[in-house]
Amino acid sequence: MYLKRLEMSGFKSFASRTELEFVPGITAVVGPNGSGKSNVTDAIRWVLGEQSAKSLRGSKMEDVIFIGSDSRKPVGFCEVSITMDNSKRILPLDYAEVTVTRRVYRSGESEYLLNRQSCRLKDIQELFMDTGIGKEAYSMIGQGRIEEMISNKSEDRRAIFEEAAGIVKYKSRKKEAEKK
Ligand code: ATP
Ligand code: MG
Repeated sequence: MYLKRLEMSGFKSFASRTELEFVPGITAVVGPNGSGKSNVTDAIRWVLGEQSAKSLRGSKMEDVIFIGSDSRKPVGFCEVSITMDNSKRILPLDYAEVTVTRRVYRSGESEYLLNRQSCRLKDIQELFMDTGIGKEAYSMIGQGRIEEMISNKSEDRRAIFEEAAGIVKYKSRKKEAEKK
């Protein structure tokens, strides 16, 4: 399973629809300061359900919507989609590609889609559980995160191993069952 495609529209500095295709192997994104490199990783975390504006380097969620420039008007909503290659059916969906989309309007209204069908954030979180993919999971290692892992409390480190071992799903279901 790998990230095949990232599409952004109205997200931060990506006012126009921008599509990035990835192939297996290593991809490096290079560019001058302020050109939008970090906005690319922000987009991936955002579509996976990031709720903290601060961790997306803004002060409110609306800050992810393109605010306009000298030559361009602001936009009313933004949308990000990621497409994962699922030819090995690692995600429990019978599709060779799985696309997750998040859209948010200035009014605050927001929605998530799974293969273009409306869904809940919870469905997306459950889908990626134990795959290492998620806004906090180990497939996204941000600046300072390695240090954090090393110096963290053992319980926090344990969470990383639990995700890698693939037992988060069962723990989460157990917790849900206990609530009932
Ligand atoms: P560095 O090399 O310094 O880390 P970078 O390539 O990672 O730079 P980013 O932080 O991704 O750059 O991009 C910052 C740019 O995105 C800034 O110019 C900022 O104005 C622009 N930006 C952020 N949010 C918005 C928004 N909502 N609308 C328009 N532009 C935005
Ligand atoms: Mg940066």
